[in-house]
Amino acid sequence: MSTLVIKDLHASIGEKEIVKGLSLTIKSGEVHAIMGPNGTGKSTLAKVVSGHPDYTVTGGDVLLDGVSILTQEADERARAGLFLAFQYPSEIPGVSIANFLRAAVQARMAEGEEIDATAYYKRLYAKMDMLKIDRKFTSRSVNEGFSGGEKKRCEILQMAMLEPKFALMDETDSGLDIDALRIVSEGVNTLRGPNLGVLMITHYQRLLNYIVPDFVHVMWDGRIVKSGDKSLALELEAKGYDWVKKELAAATA
Ligand code: ADP
Ligand code: MG
Repeated sequence: MSTLVIKDLHASIGEKEIVKGLSLTIKSGEVHAIMGPNGTGKSTLAKVVSGHPDYTVTGGDVLLDGVSILTQEADERARAGLFLAFQYPSEIPGVSIANFLRAAVQARMAEGEEIDATAYYKRLYAKMDMLKIDRKFTSRSVNEGFSGGEKKRCEILQMAMLEPKFALMDETDSGLDIDALRIVSEGVNTLRGPNLGVLMITHYQRLLNYIVPDFVHVMWDGRIVKSGDKSLALELEAKGYDWVKKELAAATA
């Protein structure tokens, strides 16, 4: 069993503090959802945890299985078992998905260790079958001319191949259409299991109808201000975020 512990995390961009003392513990097998209004720091949190170089951590810690990952570069964190699903994945013309994934898997292996081509394709095809992805898909260039749904399919396949301990999925502003929504939720539900912890970041309750979280957290102004189970998401849908704001105001008054 693995744990990802975010402890009183503070992070800034330039002079501006965006994450303001956020704590959260995720264990393997759990799906956590973070919800919250726009501009509250959800995407920043995902980027800081995964090691985006634009952000400065000014306090607190992030521990993967008890080891602080804050001094690690993004690629080291990925090797340690973190996966960040990008809100806006890049296109890589001329590189097929099969070769891209192969490079990604190779990059995760120890130095001097070589990927076995036969075993790699066997595993790739097994994952594709599991996710019901057509074989033709992997000969296409990465994200080139992809629909929103195809980008998500590529991302989920990447996640399946890399077998991360924790996946951070920021779907907030991606304007997932119904097709993409279905692909993400079916993918996550298929990959969900005792060895994977998921942090789903979303603005919309709708996604959580498809991926039922174990825990729901409300993020407000750089911190988690409320946590609960899946019923909290429904309450937010019904009452909106103003309700949380009023509660907060009453608590601090
Ligand atoms: P959310 O994902 O919850 O909508 P973000 O993490 O994207 O929120 O943004 C939180 C705040 O940080 C916003 O006020 C946003 O303008 C600011 N911010 C995020 N990234 C940058 C950046 N690269 N430069 C300046 N401000 C940023
Ligand atoms: Mg966002």
